[in-house]
Amino acid sequence: MNEIKFYNGENIPLELHKVRIVQKLHLVPIERRLEALQEGGFNTFRLNTKDVFLDMLTDSGTNAMSDNQLAAMMQADDAYAGSQSFFRLQKAVEDVLGKKYYLPVHQGRAAENILSNAYVRKGNLVPMNYHFTTAMAHITQYGGKIAELLYDEAYVINSSHPFKGNMNIEKLEEVIKVHGAKNIPFIRMEASTNLIGGQPFSVQNLRDVRAIADKYNIRIVLDASLLGENAYLVIQREEEFKDSTMGEVMKIMTGLADIVYFSARKLSSSRGGGICTDNADIYKELEALVPLFEGFLTYGGISVREIEAMAVGLYETLDETMISQSPDFIAYLVNALDAHGVPVVKPAGVLGVHVDAMQVCEHIPQKEYPAGALAAALFLISGIRGMERGSISNQRDEYGNETYADMELVRLAVPRRVFTLSQIKYVEDRMTWLYENRALIGGLRFVYEPPVLRFFMGGLEPVSDWPQKLIAKFKEDFGESL
Ligand SMILES: *Cc1c(COP(=O)(O)O)cnc(C)c1O
Repeated sequence: MNEIKFYNGENIPLELHKVRIVQKLHLVPIERRLEALQEGGFNTFRLNTKDVFLDMLTDSGTNAMSDNQLAAMMQADDAYAGSQSFFRLQKAVEDVLGKKYYLPVHQGRAAENILSNAYVRKGNLVPMNYHFTTAMAHITQYGGKIAELLYDEAYVINSSHPFKGNMNIEKLEEVIKVHGAKNIPFIRMEASTNLIGGQPFSVQNLRDVRAIADKYNIRIVLDASLLGENAYLVIQREEEFKDSTMGEVMKIMTGLADIVYFSARKLSSSRGGGICTDNADIYKELEALVPLFEGFLTYGGISVREIEAMAVGLYETLDETMISQSPDFIAYLVNALDAHGVPVVKPAGVLGVHVDAMQVCEHIPQKEYPAGALAAALFLISGIRGMERGSISNQRDEYGNETYADMELVRLAVPRRVFTLSQIKYVEDRMTWLYENRALIGGLRFVYEPPVLRFFMGGLEPVSDWPQKLIAKFKEDFGESL
């Protein structure tokens, strides 16, 4: 939404909403932040929010709701079975995502569990543009393997390619020929590919994937958790859709998939999730798994209040001004950091800004987790909590060896409609300072490593006294300032 021009020529993302509920934030002294890191094993997932100033860990379940969502929550119909709230949500799914059948699940990964349980068998292969942590964990849990089929351009940090999330069509066909269509339960396409920096794919790319899926009779599963923003960027970047509405683009995309699932913690700024399809046979195959894992078919583990919020939130996804704030703030911060020389994933994607720790911390070997170290250092000097998206977020291979990530990123999530521009400018300022003092950042090592999804609860420690040195430099430059 860059339609509003400033007389002074500045290009500033103007918020088209106002703040009517506020939550006080706390900026604690740097010494307390060091203690907090020590208590939390230098893992930002394990910090307590009382020590966090700007929480940029994730955009999951942390988005600001609208007045209409909050109002709808008050009208929720509490019933174990047949709740009116559910039928309103079912209608919203059909209106917005264009799918007739909807199965509620408590969050996105629950959909991944159900789909993997239903379709993935030992020895199967699931081709995808790129993995998401929980999607991969469920596929491998059921004995499957994944094949990531992005184009090389996707791994270029400083790129101007508008659709780095595109599936490599030639590789897809090759993989199908080598492994055989019958060993491929589905092709997974992730909108706004999360782990490579929230990078979108184009509608044309999805059409090309559809053509191959049809040729080999394989289903397409669309992970639509970040579909709204992907559609927003399609309108901005794909010529054919420059005059299309959000609703038109989203329906074209979901229409190209056999199964659509999503985390409502992102799509619709509420909590919950779902699986939807137009295919009655698929619906029948999956239906029985919802009461087994989630809850009865008209609530699926989601509270009725959240069901109402999801229904309204889905309709609000059709409104570009409700979707634009997060991606526009991200583009603002990406451009600002880039201008200061801080290496960030370009072009700007969705859900957050992704700082390239491999470059910022080129002096830290990958076995000492440069992205984890950068996330810890940023929290230490600013109270900003980001998330490691690098080798710590990877899982070890079947022999217990480290699998180093293609990219070592620190993600600074920009939850929808939560932060103000001065807070974004604070992020710009502190990240720039840290970049200029990057030589002081040192590595980390595990002291406690859980066997599954280790990044959530794992504990680490610094390999030297680098945090103390960083604090000393911070005090030299900022004095007693927090
Ligand atoms: C967050 C996310 C998921 C998982 O959703 P949860 O609600 O956190 O379980 C799956 N896919 C993508 C692309 C996501 O961003």
